[in-house]
Amino acid sequence: MELKLKLETLAVHAGAEVDAATGAITPPIHLSTTFERAPDGSYPRGYIYSRTDNPNRAALENALATLEGGEAAACFASGSAAAAAIFRTLRPGDHVLAPDDLYHGITKLLKQVFIPWGLAVDFVDTSNVDTVKEAWRENTKLLWLETPSNPLLKISDVAALSELAHSQNARVACDATWTPPTVQRSLDLGTDLVLHSTTKYLAGHSDVLGGAVIAERAEGVFEKVRTVQNLEGAVPSPFDCWLVLRSLRTLPYRMRAHSENAGKVAAFLAAQPQVERVYYPGLESHANYDVAARQMDSFGGMLSFEVVGGEAAAMRVAAKVQLFTRGTSLGGVESLLEHRASIEGPESRTPKGLLRVSVGLEHPDDLIADLAQALG
Ligand code: PLP
Repeated sequence: MELKLKLETLAVHAGAEVDAATGAITPPIHLSTTFERAPDGSYPRGYIYSRTDNPNRAALENALATLEGGEAAACFASGSAAAAAIFRTLRPGDHVLAPDDLYHGITKLLKQVFIPWGLAVDFVDTSNVDTVKEAWRENTKLLWLETPSNPLLKISDVAALSELAHSQNARVACDATWTPPTVQRSLDLGTDLVLHSTTKYLAGHSDVLGGAVIAERAEGVFEKVRTVQNLEGAVPSPFDCWLVLRSLRTLPYRMRAHSENAGKVAAFLAAQPQVERVYYPGLESHANYDVAARQMDSFGGMLSFEVVGGEAAAMRVAAKVQLFTRGTSLGGVESLLEHRASIEGPESRTPKGLLRVSVGLEHPDDLIADLAQALG
């Protein structure tokens, strides 16, 4: 009988095998770049050359596909390389719709690499389905989603937008870096592809860069992603794959704590007179709270807030935190806080008084006490 396993169990066992040669419980790291052929020239163990495939990468890809509920996954050296592989599946002349609030690296990737390459891109408010409908063109081939968005935590209705895209024969890719599979089931909601910067929650310890594309179906567009992975070669090292797979084992429990802590920090900030606005989908005051509550299993560990007094006041708060580290990135065990507009550069449309927070796994009372003294 095949057991229907829960995510916590899958996270521990997916891609795990006792090593046949030694009985080791944790997998060996296969540094070999090449693999032996049999006398007849075949590759009986399936591996040829590590850019094409490697046992540590295969284990991680299997685990990610299992956790996201997809048929296949392809891992990359970074989340940005994974995103680029998805855009590479398109052709010059194709049109992409992407959120107007979006991780700034993807905005830049589109503007500086893929628009010059020939893609047409419109950045629209995907939190409004009608706006997306109005922006739709005959040659729209890809709808790119990121929900909650970065850094304004706008929520887009993944199921409704996927239905719209599919009715127009287009594909939907969702950057789920902020929403690992225990937070949001993006493929189940209707997307064709899910992207992760595994650098963030999946690796979870701020010590490895990586990316992944997980596909609902192994055929079709995913085959092109696989071709780009193999031929362009932006693949992760065996050790990096090993680290991410190791971290997946604790992902559901880490995400539960990240989300719980973020909910408490958001509620605290929302009650402070020095705080003008809190952006967190778990607050009932959020514009799309209903959609978030419907499509998310928890609200995640990321939030932003605006300090009364604008940029100077926000910088003062950032300078005073003791437990939070001022730094970019997210998803590690330690809490990070960042003045977002200054890292995004001159084109940033992020409010100048906005601080983005990656809520870590410290005790929430300590985090709240630190913010209270920094705001005071
Ligand atoms: N997507 C999101 C939402 C991110 O936050 C990031 C990185 O910050 C990326 C993609 C890119 O990932 P990487 O830095 O691994 O290239």
